[in-house]
Amino acid sequence: MKLVRYGQPGRERPGIWLEAAGADAARIVDVRGMAFDIEDYNARFWRTHGLERLRGLLAEEGLKTLAADGVRLGPPVPPPRRLICLGKNYRDHAEEFDARVPAQPIYFAKNPGALCGPADEIRLRPGARADAEVELAVVIGRPARAVAEEDALDHVAGYTILNDVTDRDLQAERDQWFLGKSADTFGPLGPWLVTTDELPDPQALGLRQRVNELVLQDSHTERMLFGVARILADLTHVLTLEPGDIISTGTPGGIGSARRPPVWLRDGDVVECEIDGVGRLRNRVRME
Ligand code: MG
Repeated sequence: MKLVRYGQPGRERPGIWLEAAGADAARIVDVRGMAFDIEDYNARFWRTHGLERLRGLLAEEGLKTLAADGVRLGPPVPPPRRLICLGKNYRDHAEEFDARVPAQPIYFAKNPGALCGPADEIRLRPGARADAEVELAVVIGRPARAVAEEDALDHVAGYTILNDVTDRDLQAERDQWFLGKSADTFGPLGPWLVTTDELPDPQALGLRQRVNELVLQDSHTERMLFGVARILADLTHVLTLEPGDIISTGTPGGIGSARRPPVWLRDGDVVECEIDGVGRLRNRVRME
């Protein structure tokens, strides 16, 4: 299943994306219109076997749907309590960043308020030197504490794409990762959450980033230094992950700022982040 949230920012409704098939255009199931108690894809949804309920809805006669064309999508999950990112989780990115390849996963927090929809504008402050990072994002579906690596993927609800937009000046000048990655709109997420039954192996996915058709990143999740199962085992021996939490697994080499000459995001640019089997984010840049 592909879970979406649609509608105006902050007022999104839960939906299920139905792909275009043959002559039929894509549609969205109005989940709340069919099951009023499913208010959102929130903690309660995951706690109360939400995915099984959605499968039940799909099997019902008289699905309530709307045409997807022209409908704004929001992030496929509401703002999470935890948005944890990995730094330097691909060797080629570690080498282009500071040439130090980590022996253990490196984590940092990103502001959940930075998340926005898969086609929303990315807004940059005037003169900002910023670039984009395509990343596989993991959404937790079951509480996870001290999980073993071999059981870790059982706690995953599904996968989506995060564009970990970064202001490199803030990152360098302020000597930290949080601030430069946390501005409003610095986290396009989506376009949907793909459930694990459709995507059983998170380490078998090609991923790429383009800016105005120029391919900057083109890699594969098998090249992560630390895979999803290892990350979840490692993290949950320190803290509890809860349904709806997001772990973003880091970006591969090729980012704009590491190129010579660098490729900075400019007003009007269109950034696409794509992961095979998941989908594509497509965001226009506006320098305000
Ligand atoms: Mg990143």
